[in-house]
Amino acid sequence: MNIHEYQGKEILRSYGVSVPNGRVAFTVEEAVEAAKELGSNVCVVKAQIHAGGRGKAGGVKVAKSLEEVRTYASELLGKKLVTHQTGPEGKEVKRLLIEEGCDIKKEYYIGLVVDRATSRVVLMGSEEGGTEIEEVAAKTPEKIFKEYIDPAVGLQAFQARRMAFNINIPKELVNQAVKFMMGLYQVFVDKDCSIAEINPLVVTGDGKVMALDAKLNFDSNALYRHKELLEYRDLDEEDPKEIEASKYDLNYISLDGNIGCMVNGAGLAMATMDIIKYYGGEPANFLDVGGGATTEKVTEAFKIILSDPKVKGIFVNIFGGIMKCDVIATGIVEATKQVGLNLPLVVRLEGTNVELGKKILEESGLNITAAESMADGAQKIVSLVS
Ligand code: ADP
Ligand code: MG
Repeated sequence: MNIHEYQGKEILRSYGVSVPNGRVAFTVEEAVEAAKELGSNVCVVKAQIHAGGRGKAGGVKVAKSLEEVRTYASELLGKKLVTHQTGPEGKEVKRLLIEEGCDIKKEYYIGLVVDRATSRVVLMGSEEGGTEIEEVAAKTPEKIFKEYIDPAVGLQAFQARRMAFNINIPKELVNQAVKFMMGLYQVFVDKDCSIAEINPLVVTGDGKVMALDAKLNFDSNALYRHKELLEYRDLDEEDPKEIEASKYDLNYISLDGNIGCMVNGAGLAMATMDIIKYYGGEPANFLDVGGGATTEKVTEAFKIILSDPKVKGIFVNIFGGIMKCDVIATGIVEATKQVGLNLPLVVRLEGTNVELGKKILEESGLNITAAESMADGAQKIVSLVS
């Protein structure tokens, strides 16, 4: 789960990690009011969307008066901001962070992620802050420093200090930077983050180390033990199809292609996407309906696939082990009764109650192309949509 910058900063603040003073605003009036309350000569008006690259895209504006705050807030609210992370369709700005303007002396990068190769959390740092870290990694990898963290003892002060020296934090501010990194690590561990990225971390003219940006992502599998984080969820930022799927506990991820996939089992779902691509098609989604899915769940799953305007054909690939083929067939028939179906549908059924499943589909009168195998089904759906 992803959250907004201002929410991330709220969490950081509660862990003693310094961030500038700021207030969230949903309207222009609230933005002006927030700036008044901050009482700072210079305010920064920052678009809050779940994507980075806002600065370059005009989503971060420096205002030198309340009038400028008003102007920038009205420009940004309701605007579709297109950054290199939003995709061409952009994201509508519905919230702003009004923040104290900061006298930046230098920008750095500090991030924590899980490193899969070592199965450890890694602290990454660079003195090339503010820019895209991917670019630094590609062009000047020697400017990125790493500290692998032993989970038994956590981030050690000497590691944080070594990082501070490596990225050339001014000597007199090293202790502050160490405190900052230790606090950030505590947030990462306590909140089950998958990413905690501060870009930029800044050193200010008056000798402070603080986070000017904050990107926190949380491991969704751990959210059950963080009820406090659920309040931060912003459904406006999520794909409505994925929200709908999560209500029914379906493992659904929206993708860019045009072949809707309904599969049981995550492994088979991955293999199905692979084989579609192998035969030249593009999957519109990943969907694992799960082993113990009910007819209702299958119906909803099928409706979600059909609600996607990109979908030009559907491939149902079921191996009924725990899942019964007749449940899948009934779900498909039920969903098409409710929302209609005028797309090609290729079905490959195998396993428990397969005969009954096939019979239900045959008697439904739906125009179904039966497939003999996965490969056969993939080829058929690819040719039907192209
Ligand atoms: P993004 O990463 O989405 O572009 P950031 O929050 O990193 O957004 O802001 C982009 C740039 O704007 C920062 O690198 C910094 O130079 C400037 N900036 C952001 N917040 C402030 C602030 N409170 N005061 C002064 N400058 C800021
Ligand atoms: Mg940033």
